[in-house]
This record gives sequence, structure tokens and C-alpha cells, in this order.
Amino acid sequence: MPYEREAVRRAVGYTPGKQPASSDVVKLNTNENPYPPCEAVMRALRELPADALRRYPSPFADAFRATAARMHGVASDEIVAVNGGDELLRLAITTFVDPGAPIGILEPSYALYRVLAELNGSPVVGVPLAADWTIPGEAVRVFAGAGVKLVLVVNPHAPSGVLAPAAVLRELARSLGCVLVIDEAYVDFVDPARGHDTIPLVREYDNILILRTLSKGYSLAGLRFGYGIGQRALIEPMLTKTRDSYNVDAIAQRLATTTLEHRHAAEGTWRRVRAARDALAGSLGELGLPSPRSESNFLLAAVPERSSAAEVCRALEARGVLVRHFGAPRLEDKLRITVGTPEDNARLLAALRDILPTPR
Ligand SMILES: *Cc1c(COP(=O)(O)O)cnc(C)c1O
Repeated sequence: MPYEREAVRRAVGYTPGKQPASSDVVKLNTNENPYPPCEAVMRALRELPADALRRYPSPFADAFRATAARMHGVASDEIVAVNGGDELLRLAITTFVDPGAPIGILEPSYALYRVLAELNGSPVVGVPLAADWTIPGEAVRVFAGAGVKLVLVVNPHAPSGVLAPAAVLRELARSLGCVLVIDEAYVDFVDPARGHDTIPLVREYDNILILRTLSKGYSLAGLRFGYGIGQRALIEPMLTKTRDSYNVDAIAQRLATTTLEHRHAAEGTWRRVRAARDALAGSLGELGLPSPRSESNFLLAAVPERSSAAEVCRALEARGVLVRHFGAPRLEDKLRITVGTPEDNARLLAALRDILPTPR
């Protein structure tokens, strides 16, 4: 006799990428930063006072929010700290979407969106991305017509890495009569030369909620720390009502604050990842695995027509290289490959040369 709610029983659940116990693999499957967190963070961890553990943490993560607010040029009460960006997605649904009310997403994108919608009993209104992974013009009309209460957009897009300009998101926010979550999990890897910045949109629109995480750009996926940025009226109900009272722990708060204070150290890793990304895209292209222009720390590479992406994924794993394959429409013939160190990427390329039939 199942006791769980109907929506829970029907939900499929999210399948995370493999986290092997062995460190002897080239791990290019879960978009982690290949470089370690900065030295100041490791020092803060070693020097953690016992009282930080004995006492409850700051309930609102005050020190972190003040630091993040300064960095982004917003007010502290326009920031909510969360236990990983994933928690902000769940909070946004709990806060802004009545159970059963529809949620809009662009397809394909981060698989967790659909899982969280299902758990809320919310039908998903999916708008397919254009062939070049851009947001189609009719998206607003479809979302508005279906009466969605929340729209989730990941930018740079996952899993393609393609960046939508801020002007496109601005137009979406202006025309939608509901909350727009801009999931910027990978925004740190955008080439600064693009001048991409959505934070000013928060001043203009009261329905924009920006998601940031320390998991990718700041090499802290294991810490579980992210935050949301939006106008006070949007942030306040999450800060004071829907969030768990102590949702971010004392260790995480300290390390996250130190991390933002030493942002320039992480910037060095972003520069290296961007250089490795562009080099890897070129080498994969030469091997017959083209990918769209990525502004993220991964590439969505199409395998040659005569190969199966699922088989190539398995063959890579057998050679100690983990990448990700999704069995979803438009993704079956592709591999999502996290950009590693130049050495990681070289091992991937060597394994691929070994696996793929030599082109005639
Ligand atoms: C990684 C990721 C997140 C958030 O991850 P956390 O580790 O929970 O901070 C959110 N959205 C997308 C698309 C991601 O890839």
C-alpha cells in the first residue's frame, strides 16, 4: 500500500550524474570546475572555530548577503541564500506556484525543472528551443496563453551552452505576467568581452529572480551553496516564510562569504576554463563532433552519424573517461562534455580517437 502523494508516486525523480569513489577517472560528466577552491577558502575551513558549530548559524546568512549585495550592487534584502541553487528552484515553485498550476520551461533544459514541477502537481508547458538553441519568439505567447505561474530559463543554456542576450530575457520579463527565473548556474564562464549582465534587469522588473550558485564557477559543488537575486517583494516571502529557518549551515556561510571576498581567485579558473573550452571545441570539431558555440563550462557535442552517442559514452567510461548522455529528444545523438583541465581534455580526445571509426 503506497502512502505517498499521487504526484510523488507518479514522478520519475532526478537522475544525478555518476560520482565515482575512485579519483582515477577523468570526470567530465557533472560540470564541476576542474580547479580547486581558492586557498583563502581552504584556510577558513581549517580555522573554523568550534563555536561556529556549537551555535546555530545566522538564520538569514547576514554576512554572506551583505557581501553578495556589495558585489552585485543590490541591497541585502534583495538576496536570499540557499542550500545549492537547486533549493532556490524548489523555493520558487513553493512560493509562486499554487499546487497544480502550470509552469513554463524551454525544452530541452535542466531535467530537474520537470521533476520539481511534477512534485508540485504542475503541468509543464514546454516550448521547444529553436534549432540553433535560441529562445523562439512565440514562447511568450504560448506561456501567457497557458496561464503559467512561473517560467524557468537557464542561461547560458544547459545542455547546449548557448547564451541568450540580456535583451531577450528583458523582453520575456516585460511580456510575461508571472515570475521569470533566470538560472545563471553557468554565467561565470561567459566571456567578459560579451558584456553580458542581467543584474540591471532586477531594477527594471519586479518579476525577475536570478539564480546563482557557487557549485560551478567557484569550485564548491560539495558545499551546497547558492543564492537568489530579485526585488525585495519577490525575495521577502522566501526569506521569511517558505525557506527552512536554517537552510544554509555555518560552515557553508563562512566559506561562501570568503569565496565572494576572493572572487578574483575564481576568475583565474574561469579564464583557464574558457581557453580550454574553445580549444576542446576546435579539437572535437576536427574529430567530427561539432558543438554549438558555448559560453559555459561544457560542450554539447554531436557524435558522427554512424556512431551511437550512448555507445560512445559507454566506451569512454570503459577507458576511464566520464561524460554525460541524455536519452531525451534532440539529445540522443549528443554528448555533454564538461571542460576539464587541458590534461583531462587530452585524455578525452585520445580515448575518442581510439573509439571512433577513422574517417575515410
Ligand atoms: C548546477 C545547476 C544548478 C544548481 O546547482 P547547485 O549545485 O544546486 O547549486 C542549477 N541549474 C542548473 C542548470 C545547473 O546545471
